[in-house]
Amino acid sequence: SKKDPILVADNVSRSFGGIQAVDVDHLEIPRNAITALIGPNGAGKTTLFNLLSGFDQPDSGEWSFNGRSLAGIPAWKAARRGQVRTFQLTKVLQRLTVLESMKLGATGQTGERMLASIFPFLWRAQEKAIETRALDLLRKFKLYDKRADYSASLSGGQRKLLEMARALMTEPEFVLLDEPMAGVNPALVQSLLDHVIDLKSEGMTVLFVEHDMHMVRHIADWVVVMAEGRIVAEGPPREVMMDPAVVDAYLGSH
Ligand code: ATP
Repeated sequence: SKKDPILVADNVSRSFGGIQAVDVDHLEIPRNAITALIGPNGAGKTTLFNLLSGFDQPDSGEWSFNGRSLAGIPAWKAARRGQVRTFQLTKVLQRLTVLESMKLGATGQTGERMLASIFPFLWRAQEKAIETRALDLLRKFKLYDKRADYSASLSGGQRKLLEMARALMTEPEFVLLDEPMAGVNPALVQSLLDHVIDLKSEGMTVLFVEHDMHMVRHIADWVVVMAEGRIVAEGPPREVMMDPAVVDAYLGSH
C-alpha cells in the first residue's frame, strides 16, 4: 500500500542541454500493486525510467528501494537487490536463441558484450539451476517450443513475452516494464495483460510506461501522470483520467 511504498524518490532531476527532461519533487510507488506511468510525448517518462532503473544518472536527487538508497546504482546491481526492467525496443539478443537469452537474463545483464565474461561462470556454478528456471518460465510464457529458435525469429508480441520472462530470471520483487504492449499483435494482448496481473498475484510490484490506455484502465491500480518533467497527477485510473490537469496535459501537447 501507499503506507509502505517499495520505491520513494525525492527531487530527482535530469536535463539534456537546456531541456529539463525530469524534475520530480516526490514520487512513491505502492508495493505489490501495478502502477502506470503515463503522459504525453516528451513528458519525461523514459528518462525517469532510465534513471530509476540505473541506465542513466540524475543531475541530482535521491531514491530508495525497500528503504535502501538506489540512486545511481547500475542496473545489474539493482537486479541483485530485486529490481529489473524491460525495454521498449526489446534488447532480446538477435544472435542468441530464446533459451540463451533467458540464461543471460539470470545475470541481470542486457549487453551482448557481457556474454564472454559471464557465461563461463554461469556454466560452472549454477548452470543447471538457471536452465531449469529458464525452461519453467518459457513453459509458463508459452515459448518452450521456441527455445532453440533465434530470438530474431519471434513475433513482436512473442519478443515482449520473452523480454518479460527474461526479466523474471533474477527472481525480482520490482519489475519495470517499458511499453509492454507496443507493437503487440491483438491476439497476444490479453495474454500479456494476464502475465502482468500474475506478477502482482505472485507478490511482485510492477511499474509500467504505456501509451495504450486500454492497458492502463484494465490493469493499473495506480496511475502517475507526467508532463514537462513533472508529476501532474496521481491516483486510481478512473479518477486520474477525469482530472482536469491530466486532460490539459494531453490536450496541451497536441
Ligand atoms: P515518449 O512518450 O515520446 O517516449 P517520454 O515521456 O518518454 O516521451 P522522454 O523521452 O523522457 O519523454 O523525453 C523527455 C524530454 O527530454 C524530451 O524533450 C526529449 O527530447 C528530451 N531527451 C530525452 N533524452 C534525451 C537525450 N538523450 N538527449 C537530448 N534530449 C533528450
